[in-house]
Amino acid sequence: MIGDGAALIAKLGDRLTGLRGRITPNADMDKITWFRVGGPAEVLFQPADEDDLAAFLRAVPEEIPVMVVGIGSNLLVRDGGIPGFVIRLSAKGFGEIERVSQTQLRAGTATPDKRLAAAALDAGIAGFHFYHGIPGGIGGALRMNAGANGVETRERVVEVRALDRKGDLHILSNADMGYAYRHCSVPKDMIFTSALFEGAPGEHDEIRAAMDAVQHHRETVQPIREKTGGSTFKNPEGSSAWKEIDKAGCRGRMVGGAQMSPMHCNFMINTGLASGHDLETLGETVRARVLENSGIRLQWEIKRLGLFRQGQDVQEFLGQII
Ligand SMILES: Cc1cc2nc3c(=O)[nH]c(=O)nc-3n(C[C@H](O)[C@H](O)[C@H](O)COP(=O)(O)OP(=O)(O)OC[C@H]3O[C@@H](n4cnc5c(N)ncnc54)[C@H](O)[C@@H]3O)c2cc1C
Repeated sequence: MIGDGAALIAKLGDRLTGLRGRITPNADMDKITWFRVGGPAEVLFQPADEDDLAAFLRAVPEEIPVMVVGIGSNLLVRDGGIPGFVIRLSAKGFGEIERVSQTQLRAGTATPDKRLAAAALDAGIAGFHFYHGIPGGIGGALRMNAGANGVETRERVVEVRALDRKGDLHILSNADMGYAYRHCSVPKDMIFTSALFEGAPGEHDEIRAAMDAVQHHRETVQPIREKTGGSTFKNPEGSSAWKEIDKAGCRGRMVGGAQMSPMHCNFMINTGLASGHDLETLGETVRARVLENSGIRLQWEIKRLGLFRQGQDVQEFLGQII
């Protein structure tokens, strides 16, 4: 079970002294995630910069779980909270955008996708308009191979800087990222710190128009002002998740305060008082209905993490890290 974060910090004694980032015991995860649900992180660490993160990873013994989250727009944190350390990168230290060449930008992984789209517009670099509509950050985009409007992150990534669990630095090429649809095969404990992206020379007005079209489309078809995690399931081969959910009669379906959005039925929403358990139960219920109706096994796109309940054995949890 999750212990008191202060006790975990105390247990590490002076290993954490000298770190420049912010350490918060028992940090509320429901304030961070878009769903606004979930138990606390035992300890949240927000490193000051890449060196500070590397020092932290070297200092924390490997048997203590460490996981990274971004802006929380693709996360369902369970009600029992997250044992060990949760890392969250802040704009200060990981939010820089730098123009590297006529068509290349380097961005820290705490940069919101929208800011990268805006920087590309200012630099006259085309190909980043799709980020204008994705509410996450660059770290999450790299991990999820986030995409929209027919473009995916993998089409723009040149290389990625990442730290492994020991704090060692790796420079990963596009091929190293092992990308597939909403998937990256880099080990889960690797933390991306910045990435180099490449677009194409573009005209300001055309880029602006493409960004406006992205925004307009979203406003009309997605419940973007709700507490949601975006698409709940990946699109299955040859179909769309929403079509299968609709055919299975699950549009608008509810469990407690969780609902499959009547507007876009692959978006799950917290209507106000949903728990993590309500949301996950709804998702699993929908998967079962779709399987029964069309024989399709939907795969979660949303990452679920943490303990199902207070008191759950941490060893059981370790097998379920996202
Ligand atoms: C309204 C709405 C619309 C959406 N529309 C789209 C869409 O069109 N297309 C799309 O692809 N997604 C969409 N999403 C989902 C989500 O925005 C993306 O998956 C986004 O890329 C997640 O980024 P994040 O920073 O919020 O990551 P989080 O949700 O915080 O984390 C997601 C995953 O990334 C990992 N991660 C985060 N940062 C790092 C890092 N620095 N290093 C290594 N791993 C990291 C986490 O461990 C986790 O596994 C939507 C979500 C919402 C709420």
